[in-house]
Amino acid sequence: MVGHRFSAPEITWRKTVRRPSVGEFIEGVAGRFVTDLLRRGKYLIAPLDDDQFLVLHLGMTGSLRIHDARRDPPPMVRHIFPLDDGREMRFIDPRKFGHLWLLPDPADAMRKMGAEPLEPDFTVAVLAAALTSRRSPIKAVLLDQSVIAGLGNLYADEALFLSGIHPERSANGLTDQELPSLHDAIVRALSTSVAAYAAARDAEWPDPPVALSPWSVPRSAAELCPKCQGSVQMIRVRGRSSWYCPTCQPAG
Ligand SMILES: [Zn+2]
Repeated sequence: MVGHRFSAPEITWRKTVRRPSVGEFIEGVAGRFVTDLLRRGKYLIAPLDDDQFLVLHLGMTGSLRIHDARRDPPPMVRHIFPLDDGREMRFIDPRKFGHLWLLPDPADAMRKMGAEPLEPDFTVAVLAAALTSRRSPIKAVLLDQSVIAGLGNLYADEALFLSGIHPERSANGLTDQELPSLHDAIVRALSTSVAAYAAARDAEWPDPPVALSPWSVPRSAAELCPKCQGSVQMIRVRGRSSWYCPTCQPAG
């Protein structure tokens, strides 16, 4: 996308466009160059050459493809952004949970966001400070984007499994040994997945997989814990499915 010019996008599910109006969005994107591609938490940000920002959120099931425009579109393409070189960006969104914005400040699309876990300023001290006043289950706090930006349900389960912490432990009850271990596990869970996705994207371009399962904690009762060979369990923490090993992640 970077260095290419959009012509008028086709928006087929109007509710995806949060701001401005659909008409203003189409008019504002048409003819603009994409100057860069950034990310904050789960938001993708494309700065345009008129100092506006195209902001995308893929929702639970959304994905983007850059395809030759002559190629048949895959199912569930909701929005098409034609580029100036015969390709187009296709926003695939089966459940229509994705969102689009065109804004002078990308922060206006987002709620308050916490530290970026793969940036150097995400330290053990930053994590400890974010958890210190929180009595909620650690799993729920890890999913709070104002604590750590971009951590999703499966990544939080993996980080808790790697660090041996039960998902329902109180966030402010973690020990001085567990905090660095959790910090390390968050970074490892994300880095491992990012590397797996990058390799799959390169290998299968222009149709990279939408989902991979690079987890060590099984997400099925039919599989055993890779550490202790015991049974894993699923519980719901604040409504979110949470897989863990009762032996390796004791309730404390
Ligand atoms: Zn185990």
